[in-house]
Amino acid sequence: MRFDRRLDRALSGFRPDLVGITAYTCDYNVAVSVLKEVKKFDPRVKTVVGGHHATVLPDDFARPFVDVIFLGAADDSFKEFVARSESGRPVEEVPNIAFVRDGSLRFTDRAPTTQNLDLLPFPDRRLTLEYRSRYRDRMNTKTGLVMTSRGCPYRCSFCACWKIMDGKYLSRSPESIVAEIAAMPEEVELICFADDNTLHSIRRAWRLIELVREKGIRKKFMMYARSDTIVNNPDLMEALKDIGLEYLLVGIESFKDAELSNLNKNLTSRTNLEAVRLLKKLGIRISPHLIVNPEFSKNDFRDLLRGVCELELFRPVFTVLTPLPGTELYEKNVDRLAIRDYDYFDFTHSVFSTKLPRKEFYFQYAKLYSQSYSFKRYFREKLRGLAALGRPSRRRAQRHPDRIPFMPLLIVHIASLRGYWKIRRRHKTEPCAPGRLRPSS
Ligand code: SF4
Repeated sequence: MRFDRRLDRALSGFRPDLVGITAYTCDYNVAVSVLKEVKKFDPRVKTVVGGHHATVLPDDFARPFVDVIFLGAADDSFKEFVARSESGRPVEEVPNIAFVRDGSLRFTDRAPTTQNLDLLPFPDRRLTLEYRSRYRDRMNTKTGLVMTSRGCPYRCSFCACWKIMDGKYLSRSPESIVAEIAAMPEEVELICFADDNTLHSIRRAWRLIELVREKGIRKKFMMYARSDTIVNNPDLMEALKDIGLEYLLVGIESFKDAELSNLNKNLTSRTNLEAVRLLKKLGIRISPHLIVNPEFSKNDFRDLLRGVCELELFRPVFTVLTPLPGTELYEKNVDRLAIRDYDYFDFTHSVFSTKLPRKEFYFQYAKLYSQSYSFKRYFREKLRGLAALGRPSRRRAQRHPDRIPFMPLLIVHIASLRGYWKIRRRHKTEPCAPGRLRPSS
């Protein structure tokens, strides 16, 4: 439905027996409205929901238009539920689900979920053929997603991925991953590893590289990695670059050790710095993720921008520190929430009170983006590139491998200017609304 929102048309054309939906917290209100619409269309259609929010706060889905909630990884439970529903057997014995009965929930027994991810079938990509031409990244590259692992062995306080997996880290074998990549539609150019921590097992990564070479796979790759993994494995990074690693998403989070420690990131700013230097040297593009804390002062915003400029980071993503339900951050701060409407848990709003007045906070946030993606930086980089032309080729190649790309610059620049404008307009007409205190219906 991200590509095609005509729900009515889909329902009347397909006449489903069951409609399922998955949702992160910020999707909650949309998920609820879709499920409501399905029941309104035909009350006999079973409505089920799973995914992150349903797992950590199932009570939020105790609504008359929701039949079943799936908790945790539903690879087995969903299959069993469908089989039992089809054959008319009782579904109450399916583990890891909750039924909505008279406005409250009844939970079935908990059972272990699939531990061997290699046993899962590959996604049937024929089902999304109609929309495939629109699966593109920001640079308009045709993209395919592959899940190679679940969970993470680290324990960052703002991250839900290890909580939702009960602290476990599961990974697929390189053989299975490469078989799925080889079966991807021919036109896919960029493979995104849709994991939380792709490179945790170094041995697995080396075997993956070996197999990609053996099979003659020629694709670009994008994945997540921690700074310490990068710094401790320069040879691995070089080999990944050699097989086509184009972008690396790195959770830098902060340039300050105290903030990294508060987030339980288990990293130092020095390691982040070394990781950035190494990736630049290897010519791997970095998408650094950085956290904007609602407690930020103007100086903190300035320090963050200074770090971005000093490290010559050209694709920064700034996320506002958000206590996602299920995280330690949420558990410790649930009473401090200033906004409880889930629409705002989208990492671009602060659901906590901000230290700066709200208008000033958002103004600084928009400024952070517009200055990071500024035309001044773009042209300065262009000039440096031109200046490097006269130098020996080896040094030139190493100098600016991660130049600021023009199109994303233009898009982010326009978006941040729109952001400024909205902040000005909204704060002229309304004071800082505290938000609704319950999930909206
Ligand atoms: S933020 Fe990254 S390193 Fe930390 S727990 Fe989540 S996935 Fe793991």
